[in-house]
Amino acid sequence: MTRAQDRARVVVAGGGVIGLSVAVHLAEAGVPTMLLERGRLGSGASKATADVLRGYFAGNPVSSAMATRSLAAYRAFAERTGTALPLRQVGYLVLFSEPAQVAAFEAELPAQRAAGVDIELISEARARRRNPLIGDIPLCAAAWSPQAYISDTPAIVEGFAGAARQAGVVIRTDCAVTSVDTGTGRIETTAGAITAETVVCAAGAWSAPIARCAGVDLPLGEPVVQELLSTEALPPVPEIPVTLHAASGLLVRLRGDRLLIGMGHPGRDREAWRDRVAARLAEIYPSLAGAALHTAVTGTRDASPDRTPFIGCVRSASGRPAFLYAAGFSGHGLCVAPAAGELVAGLYLGREAGREAGFDSHRLAATPERV
Ligand SMILES: Cc1cc2nc3c(=O)[nH]c(=O)nc-3n(C[C@H](O)[C@H](O)[C@H](O)COP(=O)(O)OP(=O)(O)OC[C@H]3O[C@@H](n4cnc5c(N)ncnc54)[C@H](O)[C@@H]3O)c2cc1C
Repeated sequence: MTRAQDRARVVVAGGGVIGLSVAVHLAEAGVPTMLLERGRLGSGASKATADVLRGYFAGNPVSSAMATRSLAAYRAFAERTGTALPLRQVGYLVLFSEPAQVAAFEAELPAQRAAGVDIELISEARARRRNPLIGDIPLCAAAWSPQAYISDTPAIVEGFAGAARQAGVVIRTDCAVTSVDTGTGRIETTAGAITAETVVCAAGAWSAPIARCAGVDLPLGEPVVQELLSTEALPPVPEIPVTLHAASGLLVRLRGDRLLIGMGHPGRDREAWRDRVAARLAEIYPSLAGAALHTAVTGTRDASPDRTPFIGCVRSASGRPAFLYAAGFSGHGLCVAPAAGELVAGLYLGREAGREAGFDSHRLAATPERV
């Protein structure tokens, strides 16, 4: 006989910010939902991040639309989840050193604004006023968006988890999904078999094997180990925006009295990567030349080829939503988690949530054209 804990209408695999957001949106829509997490909630990429929530994603207006919609949800987070979320508005500055970067920015400005992004091109002088740490490097102009905040990733996980429980989601931790049969609805886990009408895969960098069980090819490649560095305590520094140097990808923000630094990911040669980060830092922020750099955050995340997530639904012959997926959030899952949950729940319920959000969610499906 099947026990109540061994069946559910919908099972969500993965208890990071995406799976939790999906579970909250489904349960709040009245869908009996169970979430299975192989370890502890928020123990994957959602464990520790740069804590940056922003609206502008260059070259990616779909992610921008999801992010600006999510920012509104984060502002209303306390009312929804009961968890007060720190949201320190610092803004986002992107430094352009080549005219081609300015041209690319201007070409997609209408699409970014249509996505809800508050952004403008500002002069080199204004950029330097926004971030006085910038040294005497060549700059053409900069993009400035006030829509960027410093938040707290564990508080977001805790808030989503509390809201999920409140809405009736059954959460099972230490329970890894090992296979899914969408025909029979049988889900094998390390804690026994579970039966569900629908499975949602939100297992981050570990999503591809689960999706393959349902015949979906998620081209996520190898999980990416990403590292953020920190300086030591600095002499008093004024608040600066999250600042990206477009040509090098060097991203900095202030964390307490230190600078938190990211630049791509280390790859195989971590020492060479650290040397490259130190060199770029010294070039762009000369007052930090020679500063000792320490590892601040490391995490394993997924990576979609175009840095746009895969969100979609596979229906059975009878039209039942049998399998849904939400993965490939690359470096910005926190920024878009509320909208991602809303989109997945919308797909399940047969609603075009993307249209309500102002974009075409069909472009997110893992179709042969995309993969
Ligand atoms: C260093 C770093 C800094 C970052 N900074 C930012 C930032 O500032 N802003 C931002 O927006 N994004 C940032 N990101 C990206 C962000 O962390 C991710 O996009 C986001 O956490 C993805 O959430 P997720 O729920 O899809 O994946 P995860 O958080 O990885 O969750 C997936 C979960 O699935 C579980 N799981 C895996 N396999 C199974 C299975 N078989 N059965 C059951 N459960 C399973 C895992 O244990 C995990 O808990 C950063 C990432 C890193 C690594």
